[in-house]
Amino acid sequence: MNEYDSSKMLEIMQEAYGLKLVALPQDADVILLNTCSVREKAEEKVFSELGRLNKHKQNRPGMIIGVGGCVGQQEGKRIQQRAPYVDIVFGPQTYHRLPELVKTVRRDRVKVVDTEMPEIEKFDHLPAVSGKKGSSAFVTIMEGCDKFCTFCIVPYTRGPEISRSPEAVLEECRALLAAGVIEITLLGQNVNAYVSEQDNVEFDFTMLLHAVAELEGLKRLRFTTSHPIEMNDDLMEAFAILPQLMPSLHLPVQTGSDAILKAMHRGHTRQDYLDQIATLRDFCPDIALSSDFIVGYPGETDEDFEQTMSLIREVRFDFSFSFKYSPRPGTPAQDIVDDVPELVKSARLKELQDLLQEQVRETMKEQIGTTKQVLVECVGRREGDMQGRTDDFRIVHFQAKPRLLGQLVDVRIIEAYGQSLRGEMVVVDS
Ligand code: SAH
Ligand code: SF4
Repeated sequence: MNEYDSSKMLEIMQEAYGLKLVALPQDADVILLNTCSVREKAEEKVFSELGRLNKHKQNRPGMIIGVGGCVGQQEGKRIQQRAPYVDIVFGPQTYHRLPELVKTVRRDRVKVVDTEMPEIEKFDHLPAVSGKKGSSAFVTIMEGCDKFCTFCIVPYTRGPEISRSPEAVLEECRALLAAGVIEITLLGQNVNAYVSEQDNVEFDFTMLLHAVAELEGLKRLRFTTSHPIEMNDDLMEAFAILPQLMPSLHLPVQTGSDAILKAMHRGHTRQDYLDQIATLRDFCPDIALSSDFIVGYPGETDEDFEQTMSLIREVRFDFSFSFKYSPRPGTPAQDIVDDVPELVKSARLKELQDLLQEQVRETMKEQIGTTKQVLVECVGRREGDMQGRTDDFRIVHFQAKPRLLGQLVDVRIIEAYGQSLRGEMVVVDS
């Protein structure tokens, strides 16, 4: 989501001021840091990065430094109190106002903060898709979150759930397809909470998926992130019905313990999640599954942690992200004593990551001997290599000509590494 926002910020600045990307920060007139505050560490990194950027600003008076994203939203003017050389602070819902903010700083030589959460759609103010695009693109379909999981800062920084209209989404998709894109990833904090209207009739996420899948030129469709409580049967069935919908799904569960799921306010049980996974696999037997896990949530016992480990063993994930719990300002969990000792958190995280890593290795190995359709995404690291992704989102390296960039090719998998695969292109004799 931040990648999408950053690309839009760039387009806005290009359109308003003709700014171009430079390779080195010391050559920039404007530096915008897009930030994340979902975990403690990400936030600390912002201030150390700002310290480095300030050195460049000293050598280049007039350089404008802006901090956007969720840290900007959450900290507001406190950022400028701690780092007075920051000219602009803005939030995820106000970056369309960047040209005005830059103008104010230049004209009035003042510092500005804009962390409003206007109800209006910032999307109406973003530049239309233009120019040539790569083969893959993101399209934001909804923003914000109404779930209020007790540990999570997102509802406070990104605001309530707001969905774009189906027309606006389809229009952006059509423009991207016309510009050469063949793979679209629909984005949102909870894409399956998407709800809008068309001709006075409710239009939900599954309907949107069907509508996007039908667009001419679209070869691959993905979405992220979705929440288990809004994973209904129609949506799961879409994996069986829509050939464009790629067989991979990120479905965060956080923990396998019912007590902790309840404490986190996730709104479902361990069994609900396992049932969903079974249904998904009925509809799409080869679906690659990934999840997010938090260890060391307040009150997590050894038994709770064991429940998470057993859920992982039961499901077998293809990829995953896992974190130690860290209290976030303003969240309900912040008021509960963070009682799992740091050492215990670290030990649990290691045990969990070892298991997940073992599953990644196993599932990667199982790919050997299969032939996969791969979208060629970039030049690989080894001489003569190109790199791409399979339908189920695995990275593959293989020898191929750079002219195949952006194309779909068949690749036979011959070797599995820790996180990626090696293959050979299957050349069809004609
Ligand atoms: N909307 C998505 C995830 C958004 S945040 C969902 O509901 O699943 C991405 C991930 O960051 C979360 O899934 C969670 O695993 C992690 N995370 C969020 N807050 C955290 C915290 N306070 N401590 C540790 N990890 C956290
Ligand atoms: Fe955060 Fe929960 Fe919303 Fe995901 S669903 S963004 S974890 S509050």
